[in-house]
Amino acid sequence: MKHDVIVIGAGLSGLMAAKTAADCGLRTLILAKGMGMIHVSPGGIDLLGYYPEESMEIEEDPFSALGRLIEERPDHPYSKVGLEDLEHALASLSALFSSGGYRYTGEGRKNTVLPTGIGSARPSYLVPSTMVGGKGVFSEPTLLVGFHEFAGFYPAYAARNLRNSGGEGGGGPEVRSGYVEVADIGGRNSFKGSSLALQFDVGAFREAVAERVRGIMEGERLVGFPAVLGLRDPQGVKLDLEARIGSEVFELSVLPPSIPGMRLFDAFQRALRAKGVKMIQGVEVVSAVRKGRHCRGVVVKTPSGQQRVHEADSFVLATGRFFGGGLRAEHDRIVEPIFDLPVVQPEGRAEWFSDDFFAKEGHPINRAGIKTNDRLNPVDGKGGPVLENLFLAGSILGHHDPAREKSGSGVAVGTGYKAVQNLVEK
Ligand SMILES: Cc1cc2nc3c(=O)[nH]c(=O)nc-3n(C[C@H](O)[C@H](O)[C@H](O)COP(=O)(O)OP(=O)(O)OC[C@H]3O[C@@H](n4cnc5c(N)ncnc54)[C@H](O)[C@@H]3O)c2cc1C
Repeated sequence: MKHDVIVIGAGLSGLMAAKTAADCGLRTLILAKGMGMIHVSPGGIDLLGYYPEESMEIEEDPFSALGRLIEERPDHPYSKVGLEDLEHALASLSALFSSGGYRYTGEGRKNTVLPTGIGSARPSYLVPSTMVGGKGVFSEPTLLVGFHEFAGFYPAYAARNLRNSGGEGGGGPEVRSGYVEVADIGGRNSFKGSSLALQFDVGAFREAVAERVRGIMEGERLVGFPAVLGLRDPQGVKLDLEARIGSEVFELSVLPPSIPGMRLFDAFQRALRAKGVKMIQGVEVVSAVRKGRHCRGVVVKTPSGQQRVHEADSFVLATGRFFGGGLRAEHDRIVEPIFDLPVVQPEGRAEWFSDDFFAKEGHPINRAGIKTNDRLNPVDGKGGPVLENLFLAGSILGHHDPAREKSGSGVAVGTGYKAVQNLVEK
């Protein structure tokens, strides 16, 4: 069957593009090799945490910073989306969740600063309702609780870093840590984040954990857990624990896999299924069938090695960067493996490396990606569209440094939405 749109990639940008296409009534197919960064990301939607990215000051008001960025950096993906469509995209994402339960929330148009699982502070724009209470760590006496059997979160380390965040002389927040054992409750012998999350969905497990937490509390008003508080109804789990413990409960982002990321992926999957979007996972798109400046189909390789062509009127390329597989480093250049699109990249291989991946001054390799026109079509050296019915979304786009700007998920949501708006208007 020929589709209206084929989205390549099932990370945040691909899922957002597919949802937008389905909302527009388009017959949509997602083809994806594997999971995207959504399964390892902390779970919040970061719009813009730092601007310019070398700034050490957290941006309190991301929209005013975005206004400046759009004026100053016409090549940045946000400049191709615009503020109005970015807001529409964020509203569309928020609508994935019902208003009463687990949802994405924030502090009006400001960034929310939350503690991380290693005890640093990170800005995010929309955060899961189970996490937002974490902002109280910086002002309220807090207990961080870990589980002896779970290696993804070291509460003592996080608490110490938070206490020391006041500088050498102390003066940081009042944060304590404690551990409880869970091996003898629950009946599971695996203590990965995902199996803990399944156990938190069970009331008897929550009561046993709450009893142990009550035993180590010293009157704290806030209790932070690793972000494993249930998969089915995390907001319900949070409220239930609060009633049992007698203090406000929040989740902290911890080492991957990301349970908040899995919840977001599940919410997308439910919405996409309801709209009849088909998703084929475990297949690699290897090349394209072109006619002039038009893409007619993409060739997929199945796990059994067979090749098959899928046809559509339009295509969204949302394959991420190096981690996702959207860009590949060959001996002397970085390539885009499906369409062989021109990649904006540092001059020579010698420029690819740096001892410090997170160096303050950044690295050009972290801005590598595809250059597009204002409609998000990839362009050649002269600025003309390489393929008129191919639209790009997410971190495969060049000219932004998601990790340093803290903009990756906002760019993914905004460009996923805008790519489809553009293809609908063509
Ligand atoms: C180390 C690191 C730290 C980061 N820190 C932050 C942060 O603090 N804040 C922030 O906002 N962002 C951060 N980001 C960026 C953020 O994670 C990404 O920008 C965002 O999640 C990208 O989503 P995406 O959909 O573009 O790509 P991805 O999530 O990478 O998804 C790509 C999808 O395409 C599929 N795919 C790839 N090639 C093919 C193919 N040939 N055929 C079929 N499918 C294919 C993949 O399997 C996957 O499903 C960070 C990124 C990294 C790497």
